[in-house]
Amino acid sequence: MAGLGFRGLDRPFPSVVNARACGGIDPCETAWYDPLFPHAAGPGLMVFGAGPALNLGLDGSLVYHEYLHAVIGLTAGLGDDFFDRDLFFSLALGEGFADYFAASLSGDPRLWRYASAGGAAAGAARSLADFRGWPEGVESG
Ligand SMILES: [Zn+2]
Repeated sequence: MAGLGFRGLDRPFPSVVNARACGGIDPCETAWYDPLFPHAAGPGLMVFGAGPALNLGLDGSLVYHEYLHAVIGLTAGLGDDFFDRDLFFSLALGEGFADYFAASLSGDPRLWRYASAGGAAAGAARSLADFRGWPEGVESG
């Protein structure tokens, strides 16, 4: 991120990999960024779960994505309370920004290929190569 002029996270950044317990999610095959986790180096924690089918710490695009949540939190201030309904749209923007910069920094528009394939395969849960505008590209349930 220093190449983009951002040095706000040039510090040790706590992360947990191979997490087996995820607050009731079992197996813990998920990942997240916790902006409020207190740490001596500064707030924030990335968690990458692992279960019988997946170890999410092995998905490079997901590591980029979660780290970029920290960058976005420090630069854009879109909010950090996932339970605040008033932050729904700003947190959704944060998801989009994290995907965009993960793809840009990795040089690959296909995200979460490992995670979506249930292991080391070539699928992609999200792809920025597929343009979808609103409302034409959004299906309603
Ligand atoms: Zn995210």
